[in-house]
Amino acid sequence: MSIAALLVLVAPPLDQGWALKLPPRWNPWAPLDVREAPNLVTPFKLWRLQADTELCRMALASSPLKYARVPDSAPVAGCPLENSVRISASDLAFNSSFIATCELAVAFALFEQHGLQPAAQQVFGQRVARIEHLGSFACRNIGGSQRRSQHASANALDIAGFRLADGRRITLARDWTGDGEEARFLRLVRDAACEHFNVILGPDYNAAHRDHFHLDMGLFRMCR
Ligand SMILES: [Zn+2]
Repeated sequence: MSIAALLVLVAPPLDQGWALKLPPRWNPWAPLDVREAPNLVTPFKLWRLQADTELCRMALASSPLKYARVPDSAPVAGCPLENSVRISASDLAFNSSFIATCELAVAFALFEQHGLQPAAQQVFGQRVARIEHLGSFACRNIGGSQRRSQHASANALDIAGFRLADGRRITLARDWTGDGEEARFLRLVRDAACEHFNVILGPDYNAAHRDHFHLDMGLFRMCR
């Protein structure tokens, strides 16, 4: 949780009347609108979505994501899916559809609109047309540990590369190293992801992430 979220939590008045005077994008109790530029209150609004299915659906509805609700279920024993959606497209395409918790889906939508696409415009002067991912839901533990991975609840997404509007491909496996514009773009993308997801692990973290960004909405915060 961010410092902003903590501040709001410990703010004394239980009466939320003071917040009603704020514009919605600065009002921590107003629904999150993905189209609005993120600000200090956004991490708190995003955090609230975990516990509030209805609020999360309202935020999703403000995004360009094409999705279908996934009924709460346990497709694999020990790995229940709750408050999840299957995402098939956004303002860009995916190599395949994927399941995501509602909160992860909203974080992705913020990242796409306010981080990824601006980075592509800045470096290449064009949009990302397609994301190549390696999957989100996998019933497993974190490598070499007894702890469940965020992938076990579809609360994590692994992204391996991007295709620009002109067809050019950028992959972490090939383009992370070096000082070309591809590498500059990938670092901008990593830094932008760190503003919207809770945990971001990439090639700088370890060899297991040499070819993808791991993005999740678990309890920890890490940007590597
Ligand atoms: Zn991962």
